[in-house]
Amino acid sequence: MSDLIFYNGRIITMEEKLGEVEAVAVEGGRIKALGPAADILNLQEDHTTLVDLRSRALLPGFNDSHMHLVGYALTSEKVDLRRCRGVDEIVDAIRAYVSNNKVGKGQWVLGWGWDQALFRDKRIPNRQDLDRAAPDHPVAIMRTCCHVMVANSAALKAAGIDRKAVSVEGGKIEVDDRGIPTGLLEEKAMSILTNLQPPLDKAKLKKLIKSAAGDFLAAGLTSVQTDDLSSVGGECTSMLIDTYYELEAAGELPLRVNLQALLPEPSLLGNFLARGYRTGQGGQYFKIGPLKLLTDGSIGGKTALVSAPYEGSSETCGVSVLARGEVEELVNMAAGQGMQCAVHAIGDAAVKMVLEIYQDAARRYPHSDPRFRVIHASMAGPKILDRFENQGVIADIQPSFISSDYILVDRHLGPKRAVWTYRWKDFMDRGIRLAGGSDCPVETYEPLEGIHAAVTRQDRYGNPPGGWNPDQCLSLQEALYIYTMGSAYCTYEENEKGSIAEGKLADLVVLSEDITTVEPSAIADLKADLTVVNGRIVYSRGEQKN
Ligand SMILES: [Zn+2]
Repeated sequence: MSDLIFYNGRIITMEEKLGEVEAVAVEGGRIKALGPAADILNLQEDHTTLVDLRSRALLPGFNDSHMHLVGYALTSEKVDLRRCRGVDEIVDAIRAYVSNNKVGKGQWVLGWGWDQALFRDKRIPNRQDLDRAAPDHPVAIMRTCCHVMVANSAALKAAGIDRKAVSVEGGKIEVDDRGIPTGLLEEKAMSILTNLQPPLDKAKLKKLIKSAAGDFLAAGLTSVQTDDLSSVGGECTSMLIDTYYELEAAGELPLRVNLQALLPEPSLLGNFLARGYRTGQGGQYFKIGPLKLLTDGSIGGKTALVSAPYEGSSETCGVSVLARGEVEELVNMAAGQGMQCAVHAIGDAAVKMVLEIYQDAARRYPHSDPRFRVIHASMAGPKILDRFENQGVIADIQPSFISSDYILVDRHLGPKRAVWTYRWKDFMDRGIRLAGGSDCPVETYEPLEGIHAAVTRQDRYGNPPGGWNPDQCLSLQEALYIYTMGSAYCTYEENEKGSIAEGKLADLVVLSEDITTVEPSAIADLKADLTVVNGRIVYSRGEQKN
């Protein structure tokens, strides 16, 4: 008996012991059998859908270990600045957006995705540039990393940011030598502005979640682990969780979602715990994941917390989004209740701090299997790697960061430190657990782009030639592993998904070609032809099924 049978292609099970498999049968949402094609095809019945792979690859569905699903969905309502190659192009894009969308005077204009690394002069836009673009609208544009933004005069005025109000804990409002804000806002200073945006309600959220899920399925993702509270706000935690539960109950959540709960204040986390929410709760599709925290920013935005100043500046060491004591308190609160923790840390000072806090929490609240996670873990020298290894902490990495970051990593950190950035092969060789993610919308959600970046250490156009620090390239098998089993391990679901094995969930993807035989440079050009969640075909390229 079986609902679906896959045969005649490259079946990549991600199970070492299984060896070569010719065909796979699926029934009732799970993998029923694998083996020689003759045996498996024997399970065919009248209702069975036969999928002839025609030499294409079948893999476990991809699982993104860290992204922002709602944040991504919201980008469709913002000015897309990803393709801008200079400040003038940003100005033009904003002007065009205002006029094309007939945005009324006084209404907000939000943009995202600019990256000065792509500008010839590397100049960051300022308040005056945006005033030029839209003097009558409050404008705020987020850098690609989502850790810094630039606002125009009208936006600063609306937020009450002037020369008298320029200090903010966990963030920075940049001022010029006369003490006047330049428009650049870092980390928590951005929330003064984002808090002015109207809150999301359930109906809107449902629409956003469904539309993002459709895009993700088309890229072969069957599970995503997402920090949505960064877009929705910690006060709306229950509303967000209820929204997901309602979607799941209505059969309208087509892929599996694990929520990384960003609760950066003791009162928010306290309320969450008091309501009884814990890691692992939920249904087949929606589950509550770890406590998520941010400790620092990004290397590109010079807000990652580094132990020695950034190149070319005598004192800037980045931004501490949460003080050490705050992170300690929150991690201990969570660990004390058996909650998993996943903390964003990019700069070496932040990564080291988080690992120390984890060590302490693990001692204080012994848990047989805590699976502490550091999201990003970008800068990691030998001592930090020792800690990861000895403490058994997971590194949630984003291979696509290489493609957009490599220019600024060298420039902002200098060559000596840059070498200790994104050393994923070292992590892998030491047996440190890695999980693959995109941090979408910071990078594209497409896992094949991430796998390409992990294997080649290049962007999809082949830059830099030969790859950036190519001794750190992962093998294809390793790169596939982190996006499947690696991410499944993060949510304690390695026995449920992440590989094609008897009894596991039938979450699968058929790629347009055999990924093991194409040139590494062509990996990012492969497509998902068919995506299966829970034994159901939820995406088919060329014919949208639902
Ligand atoms: Zn993130």
